[in-house]
Amino acid sequence: MNGKLVPEKAAKVSVFDHGLLYGDGVFEGIRSYNGRVFMLDEHIMRLFRSAKAIDLKIPMTQAGVAKAVVKTCKANRVMDGYIRLVVTRGVGSLGLNPYTCGTPQIIIIAGSIQLYPKKLYDEGLSIVTVGTIRNHTESVNPQIKSLNYLNNILAKIEAINSGCMEAVMLNPQGFVAEATGDNIFVVRGNTLLTPPTWCGTLEGVTRNVVMKLAAEAGMDVREEVMTRYELYTADEVFLTGTAAEVIPVVKIDRRSIGSGKPGPVTRQLAKTFNRFASSNGTPIV
Ligand code: PMP
Repeated sequence: MNGKLVPEKAAKVSVFDHGLLYGDGVFEGIRSYNGRVFMLDEHIMRLFRSAKAIDLKIPMTQAGVAKAVVKTCKANRVMDGYIRLVVTRGVGSLGLNPYTCGTPQIIIIAGSIQLYPKKLYDEGLSIVTVGTIRNHTESVNPQIKSLNYLNNILAKIEAINSGCMEAVMLNPQGFVAEATGDNIFVVRGNTLLTPPTWCGTLEGVTRNVVMKLAAEAGMDVREEVMTRYELYTADEVFLTGTAAEVIPVVKIDRRSIGSGKPGPVTRQLAKTFNRFASSNGTPIV
């Protein structure tokens, strides 16, 4: 916390922190594989962009934050794990004004995560489109990875209450945006489609890696505006995210996608991604 290693029990924040009071802050979720932090610089750059977008000045350099992440992993022996990097607005008065707040708090938690049960990586996920639309790009732009995830949580509640673990969120124009914590991809022949960020998607680090790996494998990779038509008529659909990695989707709104089983392109891309992730990153030393 704020540059110091603190035992879990002593890691506390003030009730006056605007991160708690208003969800005023930004965060990143990062993975480590085989003693390396995966895509550390990309996550830190996005953290600083999110902070800049909400006019929050992180009181540390990007290099300093990167060092602190590695140090926290090392101290907790998190060689294959999940890191939560949080920057809150800091302690302020009981009003919205962020400029009343003192120094932003930098919190790094090194732990683990299992977003979906293991068997769903073999069998595929059933997901559902929900009524909660993704934030308009001129409200809280979905490119800001902010501490206010209620938009996504409302969608997640709808998905869970209709018997699915994940939701597809549409944007205010009715175009596909993303899942509640993952990006979405469509496979159509040799083409790989995903919505552009202006449709209301976070620019996922995993998304970008998968797009690069797919292009290297000879696929025609495109950012395209999509409706539910593209989802329902896809050969394959999958989700990507740091916590989720690459997970196949076999049903959307109770309709079978493609063959109704995880497809060959998704399986190959998941394999390629896992191989890439386990051999690239910043060493935890
Ligand atoms: N969309 C949302 C809303 C997310 O919160 C995340 C991260 N969990 C993603 C997409 C995937 O991004 P990344 O691959 O960088 O984890």
